[in-house]
Amino acid sequence: MAKSLREKLVDPLVYPLVDSIPASGEVFEIADGVWWIRQPMPGRLDHINVWALRDGDGITIVDTGINTQQLQDCWEMILEKHLGNRPVNRVICTHLHGDHTGLAGWLARRFDAEVWMSREEFLMCRVMAADGPADVPEDAIRFYRRVGFSKKWVENYRSRFGSFGSKISQLPAGYRRLTDEERLEIDGREWRVVVGRGHSPEHVCLTCPELKILISGDQVLPRITPNVSVNPSEPHANPLKEWLISCAHLRDVLPADLLVLPAHQDPFHRLHDRLSALIDFHETGIEKLHEMCAEPRRAVDVFPAIFSSEINDYTYFLATGESLAHIHYALDQGLLTQDEDADGVAWFTQA
Ligand SMILES: [Zn+2]
Repeated sequence: MAKSLREKLVDPLVYPLVDSIPASGEVFEIADGVWWIRQPMPGRLDHINVWALRDGDGITIVDTGINTQQLQDCWEMILEKHLGNRPVNRVICTHLHGDHTGLAGWLARRFDAEVWMSREEFLMCRVMAADGPADVPEDAIRFYRRVGFSKKWVENYRSRFGSFGSKISQLPAGYRRLTDEERLEIDGREWRVVVGRGHSPEHVCLTCPELKILISGDQVLPRITPNVSVNPSEPHANPLKEWLISCAHLRDVLPADLLVLPAHQDPFHRLHDRLSALIDFHETGIEKLHEMCAEPRRAVDVFPAIFSSEINDYTYFLATGESLAHIHYALDQGLLTQDEDADGVAWFTQA
């Protein structure tokens, strides 16, 4: 979630709706039958943007917000007060993260609605939710020792492990699968699924050519770069390669003039500029990483190559995963070599 100096200095994007941001519990109709709802969130992100689409006599919800009583009450109130008491037909989750899926299970049960997700997001969400606090796997501990975690951070990992499931309302056993390039009909309009990868395994974006909008989830955000991390569940993954391919793919298949509706921050124009900036950001990070590795470095030593802001306790895990993502990309490109010391810690050096 870092921002480069250049991004801070010049933001080339255009935000046409900064005067229309809906307050909590309110809605803003961004296009015919497309309502913008902003749900509060703790922490730096502050909020998530979620979307309600008119769907015949009902409503399709895209992303839900986190699982709290306050947000459940908020949804009830919004549906009654602003959306004509229409029932929720379906809940689409762009990806598995708790701010997007938190209330999907609750909404599904409350309205007898279906949950629509891509297969990898649904299955990964179910897998993560099944981990309990007692199940800390030894290979995950080895993973964090290998990246250079101190005892304090290994213990921190132990203490936070298995909390994902307690933070989301339990998903139903079955779901409706969304696939890349699939076309859906919602309220007589065609919507197209565009899948991106790297931030999460099979992230669904939705675009409506008629309305010229793109619901981008976390795949494209305007002023923060979505986290791209290597995690213990796939310790040899190269998610940054998938991410860069996805950015270029979205630039190829989506028109430049869409209004982008991101999950965080404000709707914006100039999608292609943003996708190019995201690619540039990581390519610069890889160059700086390569320079830093003139001396052997561990994953936890290279944060300054990628992040301009200070890494704190809240961002330490994300920064570690993202540093490792850049390292794996550089290894794959033949830019770095790796050695493991007697303690099982990996050190990376310029090839
Ligand atoms: Zn996310």
